[in-house]
This record gives sequence, C-alpha cells and structure tokens, in this order.
Amino acid sequence: MLLSGLIFCQCSLLFGQVDLSYYLPENQTYDSSIPTPKSVLGYEIGDWHVSHDKLVNYMYAVAAASDRVTITEYARTYENRPLLLLTITNPDNHARINDIRATHLKLTTSAADEVDIENQPSVVWLGHSVHGNEPSGANSSLVTLYHFAAAQGAEIDKTLKETVILIDPSINPDGLNRFASWVNSHKGQNLVADPNNLEQNEMWPRGRTNHYWFDLNRDYIPLQLPESVGRIAKIHEWKPNLYTDHHEMGTNSTFFFQPGVPSRVHPLIPKENYQLTEKISGYFQEGMDNIQSFYFSKENYDDYYPGRGPTYVDFNGGMAVLFEQASSRGHAQESDNGILEFPFTIRNQHRSALASVKAVFEMRIELLNYQKDYYAEGLKLADKDPVKAYLFGSDKDPAKAFHLAKMVKRHDIDIYHVKDEIKIGNDTYVPGSSYLVPMNQDQYRLIHGLFEIRNSFTDSLFYDVSAWTLPLAFNLEFQALSSRDYSNTLLGTAFGSDPFPKGELIGGKSNYAYVFEVHGYYAHRAINRLLSAGVRVKVGSKEFTNTDGKTFSIGSVMVPLSTQGIPLDKIHEVIATIVEEDAIDVYNFKDGGSINGPDLGSGSFSLLEKPEILILAEGGMSGGDVGEAWHLLDTRFKMSPSLVSMDKFNSINLDRYNTIILLDGRYGSISDGAKAKLKTWITKGGLVVASKGGTKWLADSKITNLTFTRTPGPKRAINNYSDYRNINGAQVIGGSIFKAKIDLGHPIGWGFYNSEVPLFKRGILIMNKSNNPFANPLTYTSNSLWSGYVPEEKLPFIDNSAAVATSAVGRGMVISYTDNLNFRAFWYGTNKLFLNSIFFGKVINPGTAR
Ligand SMILES: [Zn+2]
Repeated sequence: MLLSGLIFCQCSLLFGQVDLSYYLPENQTYDSSIPTPKSVLGYEIGDWHVSHDKLVNYMYAVAAASDRVTITEYARTYENRPLLLLTITNPDNHARINDIRATHLKLTTSAADEVDIENQPSVVWLGHSVHGNEPSGANSSLVTLYHFAAAQGAEIDKTLKETVILIDPSINPDGLNRFASWVNSHKGQNLVADPNNLEQNEMWPRGRTNHYWFDLNRDYIPLQLPESVGRIAKIHEWKPNLYTDHHEMGTNSTFFFQPGVPSRVHPLIPKENYQLTEKISGYFQEGMDNIQSFYFSKENYDDYYPGRGPTYVDFNGGMAVLFEQASSRGHAQESDNGILEFPFTIRNQHRSALASVKAVFEMRIELLNYQKDYYAEGLKLADKDPVKAYLFGSDKDPAKAFHLAKMVKRHDIDIYHVKDEIKIGNDTYVPGSSYLVPMNQDQYRLIHGLFEIRNSFTDSLFYDVSAWTLPLAFNLEFQALSSRDYSNTLLGTAFGSDPFPKGELIGGKSNYAYVFEVHGYYAHRAINRLLSAGVRVKVGSKEFTNTDGKTFSIGSVMVPLSTQGIPLDKIHEVIATIVEEDAIDVYNFKDGGSINGPDLGSGSFSLLEKPEILILAEGGMSGGDVGEAWHLLDTRFKMSPSLVSMDKFNSINLDRYNTIILLDGRYGSISDGAKAKLKTWITKGGLVVASKGGTKWLADSKITNLTFTRTPGPKRAINNYSDYRNINGAQVIGGSIFKAKIDLGHPIGWGFYNSEVPLFKRGILIMNKSNNPFANPLTYTSNSLWSGYVPEEKLPFIDNSAAVATSAVGRGMVISYTDNLNFRAFWYGTNKLFLNSIFFGKVINPGTAR
C-alpha cells in the first residue's frame, strides 16, 4: 500500500521537509527585507499547522515591513480572535486608496458611466479556510502574502499598479485554531499517514465550524455571526471583481475549481457569469498544469444558495470561485493518489491564488465592465418587475421586525420605516415596527433573492437549501407591493443605525401585579430574567381584560407582588430592564379584578419553573443542531444550559435538571440503563423537548408511542446505472419552507397570533397524527409547500402530517418535533416554538397529551 502510494504520489515529497521555494513560482526574486514565514513562525510552512495567533503575528509583521501592505481588523470571533483583512497594492495606490475604492463602488450605481474603467484597478479578494479543518487555505495565505509583498520585477509592479488584492487569511479563526491544536498535538516525530490514526480523525465537534458550531459558509445570507457580519461589511466596502473561497474535500479526490454544474446556477445570476468563470478557470488550469497537479471542474458543486460565499459574491456583481483541495487532514495521509502531504495541499492553494490574481489583472477591463453591466441590468429588471417593494413588520413584535430590518441593511440594501400606517387585508403595518424595501435600487437582484417565494426549478439537485425567504423565516406579516399599492410617498426615514426598540411600562410602578403578553421575540428572556432573580411568575391559560379595557392574550405572564419573598425593589428593577432591553410592554395592575375572563387570583394562572437544562451533545449528535440551540439560549436568552456528552449522560444522576433537550443525531451509544433512567426521570415530572433524530429515538426506545410514515421511492422509470445519482439526489429535501397550522390556544402556540406558521423542513421525518386530537397542536396543512423544492412523490405524505406531538409520560411531558426549530440562527419565527416548549411545556394539560 505504502509502496504503490510512493509510485503514484502526485506530491513527490515523500515525507521530506520542504523549504519556501517549494511553494513559490520558479525564477522569481524576492525582497529580503520582507520577513519570511519561517522567520516569524519559527518553522517552515507545512511543518506544522499554523495556529491562529502565529498567523496573526505573521500578517502584522509583513504589514509593518512592506509599503505595499496595510492591515485591518474587521471583527472579533466569539473566542475573541481578530479577523483580518490585508490590502495589497502598490504604494501610489495606497496613497489614494479611498478614492480608488469610492470610484470602484460607483460602478455598482447609476453613476457608473462617470468611471474611467481604463484607469481603474480591479479588485480580487482571496478568502481562506471558512471551514477551519480545511487548513491548506489559511496556511497558504502566509505564502501568498509573502509573495505579493516581497516579489520583485516588472511583472509584479504592473500587477500591483492595476490590482487591489485583499487577503482574508482565516475566515474562521476559532475553527482553524481548534483544528490546528488537534493535529499538532497528535503529530509524531515520524509522520504517520495511516487514515485510521488519531491525528487524521479529530473529535467532536471538529474544526469545520465556528465557536457555536455554525458553518460560516452558510451564514452569508443570515448574517447572525460576528465573523460574517464583519466580513460582509468589508465585501460591500469593496465589492470585489473576483472572490476566491479556498476549501478542502475528501482525501481521495484531487483539486476542484469552478465553474460547477452548469444547470445548477441560481436563475438570478446572469449567464455571462458562468461564461466568464469558465474563462477565468483557464488560469487555474494553467496554474495546476505548471506543477503537474490533477484537477476537475463543472461537476459536483452548484452555485445556488447565496448564503454560501461564492454565490453571495455572484449576487453582488462579482465573479467567485470555489476551490476544493483533497485534504490530508493531518500532516500526511494515504490516498488513492499516493501519500497526500500537507505541503502539497498548501502549494495547490497558493498556486490557485496566484492564478486568481493573474486572471483579475489580465481580465481587468472585462471584469469591471461585467460588474457595471450587472448593476445597470439590475435596474432595468427592477423597472420591469411587477413587484415594486416588499413591506414587512409586526406591531406585536417590534424586536423581531427590527432584527430582520437590520439583517436586510447589512446586505447594503436601502430600507425605510413606513411613514404612516398601511393596511392591507387583515394586516396593519404601523410605524416603529414596519419596514419597506423598494426594489428600484442597486441591490435589486439580491433583494429579489432574499424575499422571493420560488416553487419551480430547472434542476432538482441542490447542494444545500432551496428556500430561505426571509420574512417567512422570521414569521412576520409581509407583502409584495405592486405599482398599484406602492409609491415612494409611503417611505418614512431611512433605516440605518437605529437603536433596538424599547418597551413601555404602562401605568407606572405597581404594588399589586405586573402583566405582559408573550408575542415579543424576547418574552422568554423576560421570563427567564424574573425566574433567575427568584421571582414567582405565573402564566395565564385564558384571555382576560383589565379595567382599562385592554385584553391580554392567552399565555400572558403575571408577576404577583404581594406573594414574593424578595424585596419588591428588586422586582421593579428587573421589570425596568425588561422594558428597556427586551422590547416588551409591561402593564401595571392596581388590583386583581378582570372585567372579562379570569381574575388574577384564578387557577387558570399556573406557576412557571426556572428551566434547568441539559442538552445532549457530542458523540453522534449533530453539532449544527446542538450548537444552534446552545447559541440561541446562551447569546440571545441569557440562559446557561449544560452540554452533556453521551458518556456522561449514561453515568450521571439527572435530578439536577428539569428539562432535557434531545436534538438530531445518532443515539446508538446511549446505554439501556440510561434509557431506563431517562424514562423514570420523565415519569417523575421531567420535560423533554426533542426534534428530528431525538424524536425518532424516543419513539424507537418506547418512551413515546409516536409512529412515522416511510415514503416510497421515486416513481420515475430508472433507465440505467448512471441515472442513480440524479434520481436519488432529487429525492432529498435539502431544506424548504412549509405551511403549518398552529393551535393558538395551546401552550406551544402562545404568543403566536396567526394560525398559519412557516416551518423549515430538511430531511424526511414524517410523523403520524395521534389518536388524541389535542396532542398535535402544530400540523402541516394540505398543499403545505410554501417555498422551495420538494420531490413530488414526498409532498402528499408531508401534507396534513404532525409537526409536533405531545406525550404525557407519568407526571412528565415529552414534546417531539419532526424538524429543527433553530435553523442557522435566522429562523426567528420557529425559535418561539422551541422556547414555548421549554418554558410552557410543563403547563400542558396531560389529558391533552395521552
Ligand atoms: Zn469547505
């Protein structure tokens, strides 16, 4: 095995050490005043996986030594690591860099004709290792920076005169560092290339993702994570002509560069984009041929979901290229192509970066013209579009509407407050919580892509989700306005750096009781603040009306003041914080009487318990689903769930928790003893909130008695072997939006005020309805597809199926969902289902759940 590896090895290093010249182009001289990577790191590139702090040291060292390079920090990760952007161009350009940038941006506006394209530099952005355990990109960025800072000669001088090179050396510092620690700490003095070796098999949660285990290469649309928020701001500051995205793929592969599969490009991306990408790819081909590296193109990868880096840039008038290098994972690994060594992977990434810069330099005029035409064409399309503006908002939940407005604004989209109240159908859009996005603006295509509902597709294979319609993800009222409904007189002030909305304390300080409704996104944060302060909190299971005639919805929260064992001043303080920070209106009740519905002392108010949460993590659990739940509770709701490993779960006493969260994953390593222990714990009064794999496992373990429907395979005739992949792929629900109906009176539905709820579904878990008609408060409707792709064979089975089931087990409760409620941190709408289940799950009448 090893011998044949040596024979076919493309890398020809044979465990030998390399020096810097291995990576760099031949016959190139370098300025000796620029520090080499080794002079700063203390070792040669490729000998070790660079840790993020050393990468940062090198970037600053070169920036300090070179008049071609400036450096800026654009964000900090959750683990407080800096995200850096280096700007490389000749010193004359640096002296007028703000003018160059401003003129470049003009190309994306209706003033584009004022730009003298002949004399305008083009812009290339080299982005590295968004997936932290795909480290050849980030490691190559040191070599690439060295090359452009130190290379000498007429060719580089001309390149730097006409090109602005931006290097983002590590898009995901927390993941990169997590991975580097793993690999370096398992490296022997003699390299081991065995794929079974610990070094090549990192442990959960692995380094692909960021601190909360999000895939940063899906966050370009949601923009919920600090890394992406900072980077997208920079992308809009520069609107690069070419954006590169350096990844790794399976060890037995070679090297991939775009274009991808021609039929799998989002229809809002112009055809010329694909043609130009093909032309650019000639440079990559040349770069790889020069070093006898194998490669492929036009297969496997698509260009559809703009939440991924390259597609996002395609939606912003640039060209973008995904690079995928076969991964050595550790420092070396046996592969179908011989022993794949880490330096070889770094060299391919570096050479593709050089090819990218060459392409942008030589195709400068073409790329600048493409960008200009992209935006000019967009304005023409906006003129023809029957939709003139999108309107969205929620007078009951200004916080959620604010978060969507902010997200839209981050995409360099102009967005406005509504000037006056707008009534459409049953919905009223009020100033303060409603926003308008006119279509007639430079970002037309992106707006279209973010707000559209799309159900028809030219291809049925998707690398990722097929729908992300933002107002549906937020479950906000929204309208596409035609020219009949829209004129710019509806626009109020521009939304910019507006402050987060505040609530109101209505009726002033109370000495009897405070009450608030739970429509607001942060209602559960408010409840948690109170419970954490030791305050007694009750929730009402009926509507009631105060003496001023205000009716409080079902699920309203009541804080009685005379029965607390803590100083009232402390409660007033928490209430003031809720009003100030949670955008919740709190009402002062001067007495306990209600003019309609129960009085405040009624038994329809139930005491709430502070959730003490265990989230099962690690092992076979989905890091994505677990991380999303952790991120939600920790960063938005100020809660402190315990993340408990499978091993630990098998051995511990569960009594310190009252809520256990079982998300998607494989549960094979839960012992029979732990299963029995969990069942006993529920029987004694525990609450379980489950989704996807957790839901299925609880049923398989006979803890619940839920049943599921298996859907039949494809109906289409299968002609030959080569159809397999396409037909099988077309059976996948990569992620689409469905319509469900919620019971607004059920604790799971409290705070919702429209019974139609958008749900995100990925995968094909289909749950049968229970015999008890009250046990499925959320069900898919008939004709449930709202936006996205679903195989026609599957849809009838999703229609009318249960999206949630409640199961009373002894004195406890299990709430089982078929789908993930916290997808990618931007499904604000379904977060409420998750939080209602955690906070109100124990209030559910067991009779409705048997
Ligand atoms: Zn990747």
